[in-house]
Amino acid sequence: MQYQAFVIEKISFFSWLEELGQEFQLIGPREREGGPAFSRIESIKDLNLDYGLTMMGPQVHLYHPEEQICTIEERGAGFEVSVRQEVPRQVLIGVHSCDLHAILVLDRAFLKAGMEDRNYRLWRENTVVIGLHCPHVCPQCFCASMGTGPFFEPKQGYDFLLTDLGDSYLTETLGNRALKLIAHLNPHLATQDHFDRKSQLGLELLNQFQKSIDTTHLVEILLRNQNHPVWSQTADQRCLNCTNCTKVCPTCFCYNVKDTISFDLTRCERSRYKDSCQELHFAEVHGANFRSTRTARLRQFVTHKLATWVEQFGCFGCIGCGRCMTWCPTKIDLTDMAREIMASEGLYTAGRVKKRAD
Ligand code: SF4
Ligand code: SF4
Repeated sequence: MQYQAFVIEKISFFSWLEELGQEFQLIGPREREGGPAFSRIESIKDLNLDYGLTMMGPQVHLYHPEEQICTIEERGAGFEVSVRQEVPRQVLIGVHSCDLHAILVLDRAFLKAGMEDRNYRLWRENTVVIGLHCPHVCPQCFCASMGTGPFFEPKQGYDFLLTDLGDSYLTETLGNRALKLIAHLNPHLATQDHFDRKSQLGLELLNQFQKSIDTTHLVEILLRNQNHPVWSQTADQRCLNCTNCTKVCPTCFCYNVKDTISFDLTRCERSRYKDSCQELHFAEVHGANFRSTRTARLRQFVTHKLATWVEQFGCFGCIGCGRCMTWCPTKIDLTDMAREIMASEGLYTAGRVKKRAD
């Protein structure tokens, strides 16, 4: 996909966004009761790009927590199935590097060739994604350890990628749609100096991380410690099974389907809602429940994010945002559990990770 980099003065950038608002729904971080949230932006002055962590990631505007899949209606001797054909065009503004990676994770799950999710594809195709490098590192963030930040490296998944250079943005673009959208601004091409300033900002951010996890042998370590006592101790003593962790996790994509059928049985609305592996019903199969204990459910959440996802999708399922531990009512932290397991294998002592020789 075609890549270019420009420098755009902030004043031009924000009036350009306002123009875009005539054609697209603008969605971005704005202050709400309880903290910043990705919501509809009616006026550019409501946009707060100096935000930290939002409870729900911007992905909820691509993969909605609840949405209709189709309607099925009786027609003569048969039934007609109608699916959604279009969605509003929207711009997601200010998506941080970790959340851009979360979108790439959802792309892997929902856009797999031959198994595409129609609704997700529609939203994805009709959404212009404007990424933004974080201005600072939040205390709960460990994206640098997970390889998902603080700066976004892949040349995919976004239309625009912004780095704040003071009065202007270094604006990296991918694809023709992005070039067309900014063509009338006649922006100047970025120079090596702008990229040097970007690299310097990245280095400064790297020094701000308070949280980390060693991923070198994480997959093998977690997989061979399925019966480690940390699972049952944490689950029995602290997990409330509230499902908050999965609700806020930007890479959790499991859903369940529900049918609402009219009384005369001629019409059915089929919708889906985001489900959670922390729910007791989640692993119910005919005659049994293969994760009937809190221990099994908590272990499933952590090992899927930090281990089995790698085999399934070729990347970690955790992008290091820290949402699950921030909104867990008892502050259960998956990095603490991983560290405790590493410690029992002699790989973690006195607050730091020891590298294995092998
Ligand atoms: S598991 Fe927790 S830290 Fe990792 S992506 Fe999900 S919410 Fe973020
Ligand atoms: S948010 Fe915390 S208490 Fe709630 S289900 Fe997740 S780990 Fe358990």
